[in-house]
Amino acid sequence: MRILIDLDGTTADLYAGVEKLYGVKLYPWPESNLGKSWIPDLVPGVTAERFWDDAKGVDFWANLKPFPYAYELVNFCEKMVGLENVAFLTKTTLDPYCSAGKVMWIRKHFPRYSKQILTVCCSKAFCASHQSVLIDDDDDNIVEFEKAGGYGLLFPQPWNSAKKFDLEFVYQELRSYELYIPALTAHRTTTDGEPQ
Ligand SMILES: [Mg+2]
Repeated sequence: MRILIDLDGTTADLYAGVEKLYGVKLYPWPESNLGKSWIPDLVPGVTAERFWDDAKGVDFWANLKPFPYAYELVNFCEKMVGLENVAFLTKTTLDPYCSAGKVMWIRKHFPRYSKQILTVCCSKAFCASHQSVLIDDDDDNIVEFEKAGGYGLLFPQPWNSAKKFDLEFVYQELRSYELYIPALTAHRTTTDGEPQ
């Protein structure tokens, strides 16, 4: 099993970055915004064009704060399948500095994952396989990933269809996947045949 972990809204606090960028307050997530993730729907007067323009360059993406639980989540995944089978998978804007900013973010907060990074401009579904799980806060990404043959695990957040944060749900789902997604490496055995 391979685990692919999203940045924005899953491990990187995109909306705290938006709060800072526009001087608005998005947290605590009000009931009127439940299920809404699109920035123009959350910040009055900010169009998609304006946001993409304001987020140009490396700074916005590189300076997002990790969610406090992000380290625990990544460690949990690593314990399950090993570092070599965990990667960050993030979709970038067409601004090449966005990709650079996201790589900088991973290297700053998860230096051990500096070589476990996939940045894509295409759909994340391109990385789907019967051995891969995508942990992502975006409903559409999950649907596309599953249609392409992967396992999608929606990270429950107030801004997606789950409408609430639930880290324990993510751990339970991952444990259940472990039962039926094939391991990528056979169990190594010691010379006397005991599992290592
Ligand atoms: Mg996301």
